[in-house]
Amino acid sequence: MKRRDTKQILVGRVAVGGGAPIPVQSMTNTDTRDPQATLAQIEACAAAKCDIIRCAVPDEAAAKALKEICAASPLPVIADVHFDYRLALAALEAGAHGLRLNPGNIGARAKVVAVVAAAKERNVPIRVGVNAGSISPRLRARIDAGELPLSEAMAESALEHVHILEGCGFDQIKVSLKASDVLTTIAAYRALAPRVPYPFHAGITEAGTARSGAIKSAAGLGVLLMEGLVDTLRVSLTAPPVEEVFAGREILKSFGFLANSYRLISCPTCGRTEIDLERIAAKIEQYLIQRDPPLTVAVMGCVVNGPGEARHADVGIAGGRGKGVLYRKGRIVRECMEQELTQALIDEIERLCEENR
Ligand code: SF4
Repeated sequence: MKRRDTKQILVGRVAVGGGAPIPVQSMTNTDTRDPQATLAQIEACAAAKCDIIRCAVPDEAAAKALKEICAASPLPVIADVHFDYRLALAALEAGAHGLRLNPGNIGARAKVVAVVAAAKERNVPIRVGVNAGSISPRLRARIDAGELPLSEAMAESALEHVHILEGCGFDQIKVSLKASDVLTTIAAYRALAPRVPYPFHAGITEAGTARSGAIKSAAGLGVLLMEGLVDTLRVSLTAPPVEEVFAGREILKSFGFLANSYRLISCPTCGRTEIDLERIAAKIEQYLIQRDPPLTVAVMGCVVNGPGEARHADVGIAGGRGKGVLYRKGRIVRECMEQELTQALIDEIERLCEENR
């Protein structure tokens, strides 16, 4: 797939756009005024291989706490600010590596100029983030009058914000256009793509819970990835942020990104399964998330079809009655009792990693 040509911006040390690897983002849902709780969540996201984190900055106390958060965060921190330019200035002062702020919503031009000057001085980019529910009353009226589809209005709205920033001589911009409806989101990104040179932050907003939201996000992001319209992504879930990171990374892997990360193949189980494969697969996945070896690992229910179906796996197990086999590249290494299978697979993965080092 060919990615869209865009400018490249830097969120802290993380490049976005211009052909850079696609960073996975998430957002803390702790009270930002509580730096310890927020940092603990950021640490968890970093351990899950999140690349960029965003924190809401709803008031002055949150902006103050951001200083401690930014200083200790292992990830670049984006401050999410609405309406109040003083909070944006305070967040920049606190060391935020990025801002999410719609300049058209903060009032007089002088306020935008002040924020842009402070962002420029620190080389901090600004994301224009248009959500379907937050477009201006003027554009809303045109939608209601049937003059514009929602997706086009979202693109128009983003352009208005972008032009305000450009009018202040600022081009360290990325743009998001999110709706909770997948087709609207896709149409909005398609509409804006030829009209701006800036990288896209992609996602489906208010997508749902860990299960339904991840599926909906995969559907929308899948199309956008295939069309080269994703420069960074967030999977927005009603769930702990680590779940968003996990889902985001799995979506990227499905499209061939993150080549150095693990791939887990596990069979759906059937009437031939005679071991507790669900439990084993869950344990192995937990281990793989932590260890993240650059290997394809298979957890299969039976020796009849298992190794054959997972022929391209580097290493795997296949179950039998109360026992199973360990195999490498489709060839059996040895037989183990069911209770030893999980550890045997982990040991074999470690051995392979050692050999490949
Ligand atoms: Fe069934 Fe075996 Fe295929 Fe798993 S690998 S689904 S147990 S046939």
